[in-house]
Amino acid sequence: MTILLSTLNARYAHASLGLRYLLANMGALQAQTRLQEFVIGAKTADLVEKLLASKPRIIGFGVYIWNIDETTRLVSMLKRVAPEVVIVLGGPEVSYEPEQQEIVRLADYLVTGWGDVTFPKLCAQILHGPQPLMKIHAGVQPPLAEIALPYTHYSAQDIAHRLIYVEASRGCPFKCEFCLSSLDKTAWPFALDDFLAELEQLHARGARLFKFVDRTFNLNIKSSLRIMQFFLEKLAAHPDDPVYAHFEVVPDHLPDALKEGIKQFPPGSLQFEIGIQSFNPQVQALVSRRQDNDKAAENIRWLIEHSHAHLHVDLIAGLPGEDLASFASGFDRLVALGPHEIQFGILKRLRGTPIIRHTEPFKLVFDAHAPYTILATDRIDFATMQRLVRFARYWDLVANSGRFVHTLALILADAPFARFMALSDWLYAHTDATHRIALERLAALVAQWLATQGIAAAAASAAIGGDGAGQSLPQQHGRRHTAASAVKADSALPRRQARHLAA
Ligand code: SF4
Repeated sequence: MTILLSTLNARYAHASLGLRYLLANMGALQAQTRLQEFVIGAKTADLVEKLLASKPRIIGFGVYIWNIDETTRLVSMLKRVAPEVVIVLGGPEVSYEPEQQEIVRLADYLVTGWGDVTFPKLCAQILHGPQPLMKIHAGVQPPLAEIALPYTHYSAQDIAHRLIYVEASRGCPFKCEFCLSSLDKTAWPFALDDFLAELEQLHARGARLFKFVDRTFNLNIKSSLRIMQFFLEKLAAHPDDPVYAHFEVVPDHLPDALKEGIKQFPPGSLQFEIGIQSFNPQVQALVSRRQDNDKAAENIRWLIEHSHAHLHVDLIAGLPGEDLASFASGFDRLVALGPHEIQFGILKRLRGTPIIRHTEPFKLVFDAHAPYTILATDRIDFATMQRLVRFARYWDLVANSGRFVHTLALILADAPFARFMALSDWLYAHTDATHRIALERLAALVAQWLATQGIAAAAASAAIGGDGAGQSLPQQHGRRHTAASAVKADSALPRRQARHLAA
């Protein structure tokens, strides 16, 4: 094999869409190009051995915030063992500030930005000359109509066992300064008829779990409706073999026509990821995030009350201008709206994002190593930020996991942030750990903490016992969860959704 396209995915279930785009656009070189994906956490020497087994002349690596350290080690070892293999890098993590990165120093070439056109061209030059003069190549951004769609490169194995990532558009018109998509300035749609034809093919091949990577699915409502209609037709035609679709949406833009479509999705078939990030208008203004908070809250409430969509809502702690009280009040406001999951993220400094303009005025201190998490700000000191990091982890274990659906009401009572922070501090004091806490032990600890809060043992054990019964519900409901259970254990998301829906 002449060219390998490789990356380290965060989980097995996450098939790389970017690599499949490159493969689809290799043109005359496609027959001598192959994908070889890995999952983070493997031994570097094993990966080097596997990559070299097919004697490639070029290896292209997709580099992301979650794999930069391991890919750097991988490239370093490859260059020692097989210096003749040409290494080409691409991906968001190396597209900005490349001069500061060890992996770029080790590699032969780098394609920044979009690789669909530039990567195949560079490979042709490496193989057939004239040899490229520059190390860094700015990726050409062609009209989307000139990009070959990648979906035939999902294998039968991918379709059977992994989430199928798709995109109806690229880019984002908004400018939230913590987000790489803010640099796009606009969004570009793929030709909808072609895209829907690809979805049709995927469905015919057995794909049931579709995750849209579009940054804002509900930007163009006409397109959103047609895509939703596609899924509704599949759900109607195959009620015993349902599809599941995940979309990222902006919360303050849900016109009635879209609501009508959303209402028709049965339980377990639709998930929305909704970015709130902060409910504080001053913070939103500082990071250039445009959001009508009241409209957003009203729409989340409408979705909870009138649809079966599973809602996963994002908040970010550590934004410039946000102190603990302001974050807590946003968190409490969001809990009151009742989304199924709150993704409590800690701000990260993604390379290239304009958030760094606030570094001095707000004393933002970021970890120097990936994922460049914020360590302190002028309003949240390091010790408090550590407490928030643990809060986020325990929130995932207790609330988002769906393992404590009934118990959560007792934990949060009438002061969700304050009480969960108290539980979080208590759990850490008693375990000195945020990982590897077995479920039974966690349940016992939660019961113990509830007792310290004056909750009667009978009430606590009834709630925890009820949640224990809830764990087996996805299997008991049989076919309704067929699509969700098709994904292996390392894709926890649809299983968690099934638990929330079963509650
Ligand atoms: S956070 Fe969302 S809305 Fe804002 S720039 Fe990024 S993708 Fe666009």
